[in-house]
Amino acid sequence: MAYRISADCEKCGSCEPECENQAISEGGETYVIDPERCTECIGNYKEPRCFEVCPVAAPERDPERKETKEQLLEKWRKLHPGKEPKLF
Ligand code: SF4
Ligand code: SF4
Repeated sequence: MAYRISADCEKCGSCEPECENQAISEGGETYVIDPERCTECIGNYKEPRCFEVCPVAAPERDPERKETKEQLLEKWRKLHPGKEPKLF
């Protein structure tokens, strides 16, 4: 399930450099996550980094984007050709 950023986002910018999939960018009212690049941090970290670094817990699971761990890993492999994912 990809993450999204709720309206609680205060646009501090802390999450953007933490995403190894380059899924986060500055949007209008909030920072935004590209669901085509978000793997819930599968392949990179044990827990979603954007949620961990966010001071207001704005990143959340997007219920509209249900994906299995296998689908998220496949997405990761397409984003990082030739690399091996970190598995936890
Ligand atoms: S959950 Fe991980 S992959 Fe998804 S946007 Fe946040 S930091 Fe990036
Ligand atoms: S860390 Fe949280 S408050 Fe800061 S830009 Fe990201 S989602 Fe918004």
